Amino acid sequence: MIDTKLTPGSANNAATKTASQIAEQVVGEMTWISETQGYCRCPGHAQHTNQSGRRDCVVYLDRVPTVHCLHASCASTVERKNRELREAIRAGHVSGAPEPSARELKRLMDARQRCERIRTRASKSQPVVLKHWTWRYDEIVASSPTTIPEARIDQTRLLLGAFKPSDVVWIGDRSDSGQPDCSVCFKPVEEWLRHDEFNSQLICPVAFKPGCHSRSNDNVVARRFLVVESDTLSKDEVGAVFRWLREVVGAELVAVIDTAGKSLHAWFVWPGEDQLDDMKLVLPALGCDPKLFTASQPVRLAGGLRDGKVQNLVFFNQGGVR
Ligand SMILES: [Zn+2]
Repeated sequence: MIDTKLTPGSANNAATKTASQIAEQVVGEMTWISETQGYCRCPGHAQHTNQSGRRDCVVYLDRVPTVHCLHASCASTVERKNRELREAIRAGHVSGAPEPSARELKRLMDARQRCERIRTRASKSQPVVLKHWTWRYDEIVASSPTTIPEARIDQTRLLLGAFKPSDVVWIGDRSDSGQPDCSVCFKPVEEWLRHDEFNSQLICPVAFKPGCHSRSNDNVVARRFLVVESDTLSKDEVGAVFRWLREVVGAELVAVIDTAGKSLHAWFVWPGEDQLDDMKLVLPALGCDPKLFTASQPVRLAGGLRDGKVQNLVFFNQGGVR
């Protein structure tokens, strides 16, 4: 589950509400995935004729604020909310941006329609993906191209080896960020590899600026991996999405980590920005969350301990970042 809530655009001036604050007043609490996009509970969820998912309803705030839901049965309620949202933002939001030209507006709406088509298609395909691309937990473990070492430290080292040796990587616990003494959690991979033990649970799948002490987006110099998980699919189900990403989308799977909780984390080589946009739409519709919304989002470290249980590396494909 994405547990870091990204709240964009906090108001500098208490009297002026941002579009995102106004949107939350109109549609309720949102999970933001960018400055202008987030998920909310569908205002017409009571009318849904099939099961509602946590990522069914998107709010777009760029230019023409719009609520979009994957269900059709809620259309009239959603349309009413759209009018309310636009009216509230027009009335309360002081935006310096000029009105978009007709051409710009068309381009924007075309792009948005494309997004919604992708989301709808992905959501409809979920049963097919789960059925046809089955990759059960025991099959994932059995198909690891690299033999997984038993010792925790060797599992951590294997995962670190997927980064570039010079990458400055953060390893720590959730609160190890923001204070000058947190700089000990940021080290080049080649230095981490000389450690005899790791007592931390978490790692970020990115490379940071040398000498920094905070896991902020500003300190990220390169995204290295896209980490995908699901908090709705079981360990036997989620492999189907991992396999589908690998075989159909062409994403390069590097590692799978058993979080010692309910979920598995799949580490993919960071896709290009183009592909990333589609993944942001497709993954939630398939029941998965890409853990990428903030760079400061740490994930489970392979070989780390969680309440006395090992966060086991269960699949590793040598190669990593080239
Ligand atoms: Zn709906």
